[in-house]
Amino acid sequence: MSELSRAATDGSRDASKAIDPRQRAWVEVAPKAIEANAAALKQHLADGSDLMAVVKADGYGHGAITVAKAALNGGATSLGIATLEEGIELRRAGLKAPMLLLGNLTQADELRSCLHWELMPTLSSMREALLCQNLADGSGRRFPVQLKLDTGMSRLGCDWQDGPRLVEAIRHLENLELCGLYSHLACADSDHEGGDASVTALQQRRFQEVLDQLPGHGKGFCRHLANSAGTLLNRTLHHDMVRVGLALYGHSPAKHLDGVISLQPALAVRARVTLIRTIPAGVGVSYGHRFVSQRPTRLAVVGIGYADGVLRSLSGKIHALHGTQRLPQVGAITMDQVLLDATEAPSLEPGSTVTLLGRDGDAEISPQDWSERCGSIPWEILCGFKQRLPRVEV
Ligand SMILES: *Cc1c(COP(=O)(O)O)cnc(C)c1O
Repeated sequence: MSELSRAATDGSRDASKAIDPRQRAWVEVAPKAIEANAAALKQHLADGSDLMAVVKADGYGHGAITVAKAALNGGATSLGIATLEEGIELRRAGLKAPMLLLGNLTQADELRSCLHWELMPTLSSMREALLCQNLADGSGRRFPVQLKLDTGMSRLGCDWQDGPRLVEAIRHLENLELCGLYSHLACADSDHEGGDASVTALQQRRFQEVLDQLPGHGKGFCRHLANSAGTLLNRTLHHDMVRVGLALYGHSPAKHLDGVISLQPALAVRARVTLIRTIPAGVGVSYGHRFVSQRPTRLAVVGIGYADGVLRSLSGKIHALHGTQRLPQVGAITMDQVLLDATEAPSLEPGSTVTLLGRDGDAEISPQDWSERCGSIPWEILCGFKQRLPRVEV
């Protein structure tokens, strides 16, 4: 019996409470796929390099708690988050792994919460270092922090040339424990050659130059540089740890890195057909009538829209899977519904499930398929699925 029919026939359930998350539209997440991807990544790493699972933005839309647990089961040893709230959510869920906050905190209150919840802040300047030093004063413990170097991203971090001086200055702050030293790659997913002239190679040389100026080349600190693309591009980028997001979720960060290791997509977006109607030829469909039927057309209305993360800019450019059949999406995508041309799919009926993104058997629609059609990137597609879609573990 399906979940839905069980819910309908189970008289002991209170109808107001027993809302099946698969009624309208939902995101399916496979923790086993995350776990397998973490294990495959770990297997690929240079000797002595650890895996940090980057679970920011609610685990790239998969659900941070689910993803964090699965990644740790698969061999990750720490977690990367972007905001304080994300870290606290994971601590409240009982996760004990080391966590690095990748964003920059500016307020003393935020940093105090970091100390309380044992979340390592990222420092980009002496300003934050001194704030942390003052906060930890009298707390009876040293405040674990990491220093970020800007080697070419021009975003967070201190100028890489200032790295050795800042390391020395932070070491003199007795309430701080400098645990790590890191930088972030700007072009690892677009540097096709990855040769000596690439931005990635330049960033690697700058990072190494800083390390070489430290006692023992910075041994004793956790030194890390690579994101997913860097991890798959070149083992010399692995250092003591890699910080992997996209690949953990089963997606390659760039065409030229496809197949470096075998990855399993961990997410699928599914929705139900809510209505089937047949319209004659020559009828305009949805807002703006940007689709006009060329033949008598069997239209399927599906209960998912841009308020769920199906971007309106994909209107008329995507398909939905019904088994292995690909049904064209037609007309403007609306807030709560999309329309499919189901003329070739007579078995589709109200209540049928279609797959907007992800796998159905051997067929697959990937976040890359979407992002190429709307000028986005897979990262943005994945973290764009809204809270309105329940996350269902499978
Ligand atoms: C988000 C992020 C990552 C993970 O990037 P992916 O490309 O998804 O692997 C790594 N490091 C930092 C600093 C990040 O902000």
